[in-house]
Amino acid sequence: MVTTHNLGFPRIGKNRELKFALESFWRGQSSQQQLQQVGQALRQTHWQAQNKLDLLPVGDFSFYDHVLDTSVLFGNLPSRVDEHANDLDKYFQVARGQSQSASACQQISAGEMTKWFDTNYHYIVPEFDADTTFSLHASRLLSHISEAKQQGITVKPVILGPVSYLWLGKSKDDSNKLDLLDDLVASYEQLLLALDKEGIEWVQIDEPILVTELDQKWQHALKQAYFSLNKAPVKLLLTSYFGELKENLHLACELPVAGLHLDAINAFAEITSVIDWLAPHKILSLGIINGRNIWKTDLNATLDWLEPIYARLKDRLWIAPSCSLLHVPVDLDSENDLDDEVQSWLAFAVQKLDELSIIATALNEGRETVAEERVLNAFAVQSRQNSSRVHNSKVKARVKAIEPALANRQSSYQQRAKIQQQHFNLPLFPTTTIGSFPQTTDIRQARKRYRLGKLAEKDYQQFLKDEIKFTIEQQHAIGLDVLVHGEAERNDMVEYFGQQLDGYAFSQFGWVQSYGSRCVKPPIIYGDISRPKPMTVEWATYAQSLSDKPVKGMLTGPVTILNWSFVRDDQPRSQTCQQIALAIRDEVQDLERAGINIIQIDEAALREGLPLRKSQWQGYLDWAVTSYKISANGVSDQTQIHTHMCYSEFNDIIKAIANMDADVITIETSRSDMELLDVFKEFDYPNEIGPGVYDIHSPNIPTVEQIVLLMKKASQRIPAERLWVNPDCGLKTRGWQEVKPALTAMVTASRILRNSLPE
Ligand code: GLN
Ligand code: ZN
Repeated sequence: MVTTHNLGFPRIGKNRELKFALESFWRGQSSQQQLQQVGQALRQTHWQAQNKLDLLPVGDFSFYDHVLDTSVLFGNLPSRVDEHANDLDKYFQVARGQSQSASACQQISAGEMTKWFDTNYHYIVPEFDADTTFSLHASRLLSHISEAKQQGITVKPVILGPVSYLWLGKSKDDSNKLDLLDDLVASYEQLLLALDKEGIEWVQIDEPILVTELDQKWQHALKQAYFSLNKAPVKLLLTSYFGELKENLHLACELPVAGLHLDAINAFAEITSVIDWLAPHKILSLGIINGRNIWKTDLNATLDWLEPIYARLKDRLWIAPSCSLLHVPVDLDSENDLDDEVQSWLAFAVQKLDELSIIATALNEGRETVAEERVLNAFAVQSRQNSSRVHNSKVKARVKAIEPALANRQSSYQQRAKIQQQHFNLPLFPTTTIGSFPQTTDIRQARKRYRLGKLAEKDYQQFLKDEIKFTIEQQHAIGLDVLVHGEAERNDMVEYFGQQLDGYAFSQFGWVQSYGSRCVKPPIIYGDISRPKPMTVEWATYAQSLSDKPVKGMLTGPVTILNWSFVRDDQPRSQTCQQIALAIRDEVQDLERAGINIIQIDEAALREGLPLRKSQWQGYLDWAVTSYKISANGVSDQTQIHTHMCYSEFNDIIKAIANMDADVITIETSRSDMELLDVFKEFDYPNEIGPGVYDIHSPNIPTVEQIVLLMKKASQRIPAERLWVNPDCGLKTRGWQEVKPALTAMVTASRILRNSLPE
């Protein structure tokens, strides 16, 4: 018999119950006990939803993050936590700087947060130093295990492996993290002993770093750790996901564990080698259902390649989703607004586990025993393959006809800069903003009332026009040089465009955890992307009609639209990206024709799309940058193209950034004291740069002196003629009472800078 299991279930709850319980607790409106009850109820519901499987994950549920849970499990919280606080308060202090806003608990600086491999999930970075020691604190995990046992399920605890745990953390004093391995592994050994006492047979131990490029030290660490853990009385399922093992394949197969899990979606090509290399006593778990997307699995196609493997491995074969289902929404059955046809193509976490059970039944009892399920599935799969809503021959033909010239401006930056300077006649240190102005309660309420049909289309349009007028007036009063319309009509920089593009669908409850209680609801690209009509021209031209100063048109770039959506699995991402690029290109050209001569194309998520392995970066950067350029560069020399990126690591991608050839790039720099401009200086970055001088993530208002100082530091690195003055990012999360004085300080600082410059 084939064994079915799951690597992890979404924690947030079908209706984001966990989010609301956490936020209520943090506000001081509910007790720890109430929060614990919600957690327990969610775990129960989630195990129930998985109860068709043979082995269920325990330990995947978390109040914030499973990496932080691992830090707690091994007694590695930073020493700055309030030692008198109770365990949960300590936990939230590290997660978010404080536990309850109303409590007497002290505030500390929160743990750093960063992206979990190539997902949009963020974990709390473990902190280490030379003195770090570990000790086992397993009570929470053990209590979850006993809860699960009471429910009568077969428990498979899920833990993050010791080597990945060290790899994901940060050494605070530059000591070598690997020096901590022995001590850490000793605590893992204790944990495994404790689990054995609970009667646990299998433990899933995740080492996702197996799909990254590991140097010899890390490879050796894996050997060292697993040779020690081999002594433990429980069986270990060593688990990798998100990619191919490549040069780590032999290592992964040879580590002394009882079983190995391989992501059979992303590492499909490696299945045969893994089977060949795996010792005959070991279990092979194949992740056959995609845990990173929302598409139905083609059951027949999967059985076609899986049946021979089952015939060969028999009981040694386990099957599961490719990775934890943390990265997909909970239950498609909650959706009642999706178009029926599109809905028939989708599977969220619950449906993915159904698929897994059907495949198991087919393997165990023969395909005919699930004939009906297979027919229905084949019908859905074929309907998606052939649907005229997915395939638009015009769009495909246009992508095919893309020529390299489409990506290039007519002239070089140097020539364009002269023409643009004559045309706009902007002063030195021109001031601008990144696009959005405060999204006030009024704006959000109007949008909501419009959505619910309580505000007529005409009245909503008028409301937005009034907002634009107000925003332009404010910018005049402040004295900015290049204005924006303020983006009041946008709820989200991707969703806004998705809603106007063909080929996009939107779920109502398709929430995925991003960090802590924060969730995102990525729109779904199901078909070829095209733009039925202009998307932003009306707002931009209205704003421009109110001012003699240039108003920037504001668009989201193709790479960001792609990276923040659920994408198709039936064509390469690069192709989808090119389709979006053409749609944005049309919008850029329409804006230009309508008299908008400065256009900003945001690529906030360009960096996020980088593959896990550095050796694959260039391939991604090539098509991503080309897509951006196709969208941006179909304009005359006189039109000034801006791009914006709100992060600060450019060191390893500066060449690609320069390649984008935007006339102006605005970036986040205020917290780094302009040091990150060093890379632009060293690289001799040729075009104009607007390094952020106003940290929009903080309620603090920068002073004129601070801004002058920052810009002076900037001009030590970049010639003054090529510098702009602007905030780090959009202002939508701030209030007018902060934004006005901050931007006024910016304008004053820029005037001081202009006057202080030697002639
Ligand atoms: N133009 C967008 C804004 O100002 C950019 C947001 C972003 O970079 N994340 O809101
Ligand atoms: Zn930004």
